[in-house]
Amino acid sequence: MKALVAVKRVVDFNVKVRVKADGSDVEIGNVKMSMNPFDEIAVEEAVRLKEAGKISEIVVVSLGEKKCEDVLRTALAMGADRAIHVETDEKLEPLAVAKILKKIAETEQVQLCLLGKQAIDDDANQTAQMLAALMNAPQATFASKVVLNEQEVVVTREIDGGLETLALKLPAVISTDLRLNEPRFVKLPNLMAAKKKTLEKRSIDEFGVDITPRLSVQKYAEPKARQAGIKVANAAELVEKLTAAKVI
Ligand code: AMP
Repeated sequence: MKALVAVKRVVDFNVKVRVKADGSDVEIGNVKMSMNPFDEIAVEEAVRLKEAGKISEIVVVSLGEKKCEDVLRTALAMGADRAIHVETDEKLEPLAVAKILKKIAETEQVQLCLLGKQAIDDDANQTAQMLAALMNAPQATFASKVVLNEQEVVVTREIDGGLETLALKLPAVISTDLRLNEPRFVKLPNLMAAKKKTLEKRSIDEFGVDITPRLSVQKYAEPKARQAGIKVANAAELVEKLTAAKVI
């Protein structure tokens, strides 16, 4: 059984993102970039399924500029078998990404598509859902446990107020949540070995997909700075402060 994992290159989660002075975009020049954290969890899950003998091949896919190769190499070092890089300098919206992933999933005949629940740059939380709709395949978003059987995959997902367990027929689309697993640390020898694995380059034009953006961004702005909080010595002082502020 083959799995496809989508990995996006985003600003590293430790970086404090700044808005450009003219408000036209966020600043990404000279900023550390990494694999989207939820995608790292997706790769880890696929590798664990492969180690358990449930999956035979893991294909990782990234769409974006040349440097996406870095995140693909990291995924290969984690244990993915093969990488596909769809190279473009255009900003892609989730629908365009989903359309291209669908074409790759079809040609590769994958049974399981694993994506992050959201990319921490656009926070869209749309691509997995759109991919499932385009593939006419069942979906389970926000997965916190995945059990793969021959014909179906059983997914526990995080919902408001608890957990829900779904059984999906294959092929299926899953998006990963934070508690699914803890991704392994990539060691240098694995990174070196990953250089020998196949990283296929594809041009975005060959997919014949309309990637014209449907949205136009009017402006980026930083959130208003919050006032610093204060520490109170005890509950009595807390009540006093809250009463004074007319909260209680
Ligand atoms: P989003 O819908 O933008 O929040 O992204 C959700 C997930 O879709 C990400 O965690 C990735 O798994 C996948 N994805 C989105 N954009 C890309 C991209 N450019 N390349 C590869 N995967 C992507």
